[in-house]
Amino acid sequence: MFDHSLAAKLLKMPSSKKAGSRLPRPLLLINIGQLLTLREPNQHRGPRRGRDLQELGILEDAAVFCSGGKIVSVGKTREVLRDPRLKESSGHIVEVDCQRQVVLPGFVDSHTHPAFLRPRLADFEQRISGATYEEIAAAGGGIRSSVEAVRKASRPTLCERILAGFKQMNQQGTTTVEAKSGYGLTVESELKSLAAIRDAAARWPGTVVSTLLGAHVVPKEFQGRSSQYVELVCTEMIPQATKQKLVEFVDVFTDRGAFSLQDTERIFEAAAACGLGVRAHVCQLSETPLEPLLRFGPASLDHMDHVKAQDIGKLAGYDTVATLVPGANYFLGLEKFPPARKLIDAGVPVAVATDYNPGSSPTPSMPFVLSLACTHMRMLPSEAIAAATINGAWALRLANHKGSVEAGKDADLAVFEIEDYRELAYWFGSSRCVFTVLNGSLMTDAAPGQID
Ligand SMILES: [Zn+2]
Repeated sequence: MFDHSLAAKLLKMPSSKKAGSRLPRPLLLINIGQLLTLREPNQHRGPRRGRDLQELGILEDAAVFCSGGKIVSVGKTREVLRDPRLKESSGHIVEVDCQRQVVLPGFVDSHTHPAFLRPRLADFEQRISGATYEEIAAAGGGIRSSVEAVRKASRPTLCERILAGFKQMNQQGTTTVEAKSGYGLTVESELKSLAAIRDAAARWPGTVVSTLLGAHVVPKEFQGRSSQYVELVCTEMIPQATKQKLVEFVDVFTDRGAFSLQDTERIFEAAAACGLGVRAHVCQLSETPLEPLLRFGPASLDHMDHVKAQDIGKLAGYDTVATLVPGANYFLGLEKFPPARKLIDAGVPVAVATDYNPGSSPTPSMPFVLSLACTHMRMLPSEAIAAATINGAWALRLANHKGSVEAGKDADLAVFEIEDYRELAYWFGSSRCVFTVLNGSLMTDAAPGQID
């Protein structure tokens, strides 16, 4: 949990200045024990692959100076303290002594479903009693059981729930979130969900990327005529969400019991016609050939539990990120986890994300996902951290701004009460995140910038 007393101890505040402007005050973090910069290890630009996934670009005894919401300088504390731009802001700067703790770029959680109302506790108990994910869905549970509440909910109610999710993620070190709709499944309620995501994003200082997941599951009223529902997604949901500037990506659940490869291609074509990026939930429950999807240049393909061996080789030739969400495997009690080792060793860029959702992965915690990545997918702590930061940023096409601590990038940082970066993935079930910086705003509590 968030340690307010420690955060207060770390902060050295100038007493004479008052908050007043909307821009966050310049911020200086000094005495960082390990700063994981995640800077580019070589000339190659693109998502991290293979051995490069282990390169965290660690600086010891480091400092970071941020101003105007951006990172201005990064280096050894004594170098940063000599930066002339510091003098220009002096008397105005919020200074934080990090007491030799670990600082990294805020996590980029590139796969979440926060637009829901309630936990699915009946599903949870049925699964404990032996029912599978697909059996629960067939009996009226699963995704469809979240739909009714979202359809009835007002936009402000939904916004409050989404915002609560963002805040919980932030308490665990996340500063950028991809947020999907997908529990409305009508034009009106999908647009309402996306609008509620936008409302919540406006009240949170972190960064939110919106994704339309109208093709999450075929809703009850379209049972037996799924192609008509696909038409609705293509001809109404996607164009209207685009026109209202509510969405950046379109996602499809491409799997047994959800949407076919042909449906997905049709939806991807409609998304491309509107200038939107695409991604898909794929190979979670069954093998699906990826080639027909790769021609659309998807930003990510997510889950990938049952990816075919020959597709792994093909994927390595693309910048499409394989986003692995082991929280779902954990929560569904599965023995098998996504084949991270095979993907990484073949040169596929891999990200990890929470898949925060009420049915299969109700966790807001990236540190927990790091733990699962190491213990169940045999990723090294360094690989898991790169997958949760810079490669998450690539999966959202935000790598020019997010995912590493480099001058010119957005000031998104997470400070952890640990001495060695490997502890991020080692301790589980407890968050050691002391505070975060989101676009230059210091988050010391549920509210940003309340330090004056
Ligand atoms: Zn998902």
